[in-house]
Amino acid sequence: MEEKGDGREGTAEPVVIGRSEHSISRRNIDPDALRILFRLHRLGFTAYLTGGAVRDMLLGKEPKDFDIATDAHPGQVKKYFGNAFIIGRRFRLAHIHFRGGKIIEVATFRKDPGPDTLDLPSAGIAPQFAFGTPEQDAWRRDITVNALFYDPVSATLIDYVGGLTDLRSRRIRVIGDAGERFREDPVRIWRVVRYAARLGFAIEEDIGREIVAQRHLLSACSPARLFEEFCKDLLGRQTRLIIADLREYGILRCILGRIGETFETDSLLFNKVCSLLDIADREKSLRRDLSLTEMSALLFWPWAEPLLAGVPPDPYTVLKKAFMNAGMAVALPKGLRAQVIDILAMTGRMVRALRDGNMRWSMRGRPQYGQASRLCFLIEQNRAPKEGESFENLFQQAFPSRPTWGAKRRRRRRKKSPALQ
Ligand code: ATP
Ligand code: MG
Repeated sequence: MEEKGDGREGTAEPVVIGRSEHSISRRNIDPDALRILFRLHRLGFTAYLTGGAVRDMLLGKEPKDFDIATDAHPGQVKKYFGNAFIIGRRFRLAHIHFRGGKIIEVATFRKDPGPDTLDLPSAGIAPQFAFGTPEQDAWRRDITVNALFYDPVSATLIDYVGGLTDLRSRRIRVIGDAGERFREDPVRIWRVVRYAARLGFAIEEDIGREIVAQRHLLSACSPARLFEEFCKDLLGRQTRLIIADLREYGILRCILGRIGETFETDSLLFNKVCSLLDIADREKSLRRDLSLTEMSALLFWPWAEPLLAGVPPDPYTVLKKAFMNAGMAVALPKGLRAQVIDILAMTGRMVRALRDGNMRWSMRGRPQYGQASRLCFLIEQNRAPKEGESFENLFQQAFPSRPTWGAKRRRRRRKKSPALQ
């Protein structure tokens, strides 16, 4: 690949790489995304594929989603695509919906609002993003390898920010001044660590220093935005690597409050987190995805386990209080938190039952029982249960002569758990 410069000095001329010099093939692009790109082009707009899709395709990985950047305004996208919906609080963009729940994001090129319009997340104020040129759009992005454009019409790659050089050197570089960009939007701190971990790229020392100096700003970010990032890490690839790197940079305490602090200070406990996440990553790589509830319960189990030791009278209340007192910056939605608490409490009971042989089988009626059974299996067997395997198998192995579900007389539960109310 012949390059004209790395663009970091702010040169207006991008590096343009022709079809014969890069590895992206239209065949690897989602056909619906391609149709949108070509249609926008036919309508006279500029439209590029950008973000993670271009980055991942250049690295030979399968992209998770295909984001499109265009000079068409959201209203115009809506006008020309019947299945488009305008969304966004911080900035308006179009989501084009397809069968099977697939969504392709079409965002209008925009420019950085600059340090004057700092992200004021706790105040819930949306910075005033203005539409911009492709070049401005590249420069307002977070890291260089996320700011590449692919033009499907000419099959060229367009690089304004030196992303191709960084991709080849396998390094994560923040666009512009890292300190300023982190202050502007501290969520970028989390993102830098995520992509370095996920791609196996290096974070330069000065950026590492800025991360440490500014990580505290994360705890003041919008809890809902932090939850979005949390979901990306739990549902995406390489969760263990990312969580371990967030710990290395002391970020877990900034996003998960006391829970994160425990993960950072107690290495033995964190080793358990890592081995559970390793199992989950293995499952995900085999396309056996875990739900967000399962992943959250898995992550929090090593922290919850000691709280459930000594048979607390009401594990649900114990866990509910512990979550409330944890001071997490990431806001788990109420429903999700209640489900996670339910799973953790039941798992605690199951794990104990495997030691003392006393199981409250009436739990089987609870909605989260199946997920708790899977979690218990993971913890006890260091692998996910196969089709048809469950906690009952483990119990039978441990206590072959004890009856399992159905053999005991059913008793009515006296008190409904507060987590379910
Ligand atoms: P993946 O979807 O595989 O996690 P991605 O790079 O596509 O990776 P998204 O969260 O989908 O990540 O964001 C799409 C693009 O939007 C990014 O590649 C980046 O260019 C830009 N972006 C996202 N968040 C920010 C941010 N906080 N500041 C600046 N640019 C951002
Ligand atoms: Mg993406």
